[in-house]
Amino acid sequence: MPSHNLARLEIGDLEILGYSVAGEETVIGLPQLDVCFDIGKAPDQLISINHVLLTHGHMDHAAGIAYYLSHRKFNGMSEGTVLTPPNTLKPIRDILDAWGRLDGNRIPVNLVGVTPGDQYPLKPNLIARVFPTKHSYQSVGFSVIETRKKLKAEYLGLTGPQIVELKKQGIEIENPVEIPLVSYLGDTSYVDFSQLEYVSKSKILIAECTFYEDEHTERADAGKHMHIDEFGPLLERMENEYIIITHLTHRTSVVEARNMLEKRLPGEVYKKVIILMDRKNWVKKR
Ligand SMILES: [Zn+2]
Repeated sequence: MPSHNLARLEIGDLEILGYSVAGEETVIGLPQLDVCFDIGKAPDQLISINHVLLTHGHMDHAAGIAYYLSHRKFNGMSEGTVLTPPNTLKPIRDILDAWGRLDGNRIPVNLVGVTPGDQYPLKPNLIARVFPTKHSYQSVGFSVIETRKKLKAEYLGLTGPQIVELKKQGIEIENPVEIPLVSYLGDTSYVDFSQLEYVSKSKILIAECTFYEDEHTERADAGKHMHIDEFGPLLERMENEYIIITHLTHRTSVVEARNMLEKRLPGEVYKKVIILMDRKNWVKKR
């Protein structure tokens, strides 16, 4: 029996598995991209993913970090890679040391401190890029971007042998191109993310919108989370094809949140929106 009953979405050839409720747990895995955004309480189904991209150190996003790493060792997997803001490095090392002593086994990890602007290679032609968010000290978000090369316009009509000849001469005939696949905002208060082109043009945006009701605006400010009053106008400026909403407060039901999103968003924006924990979007495991 897996430890969690995870939401399961399919967008194109990407599978998205996750769980996200404010203050309780947030973890979202994309096995095909080999990334897990935050780790929550380390669901069994996501342990085999090799990279955890941690946005900040709050318990509901990071509690499972030692279990994730230790369970990989237990199952004979390679050490996991954790990208995480610099202020979390020492506390995470301390936690891993303490668990290592309790458990009698050293916990292996490739722990990488990241700050906005950093890039980390995930696979050939796939990188993670780090951007700032506004939630806790040094909190960040991540974009997963496919990198390809495209023949420069002036060489488009050339034959195969002509291209080979130019390459032999050391002439740069291709331009690098970036295809942003997924951006994850983690926890954040309002920032105009439409200013970051690789975020606003990501095929999939995974964004928190914690609060929906008028009397919850102060809670949103205090917790540094987004309220629909700010989130709605932001979405209208974004160019994503799919918008997955995470981190709803348990004070508002999924049905109420869905109704408010439908009321507040223009039709063409609302139809892109998927609430992660809305069971009506879940796809059965084949
Ligand atoms: Zn948080």
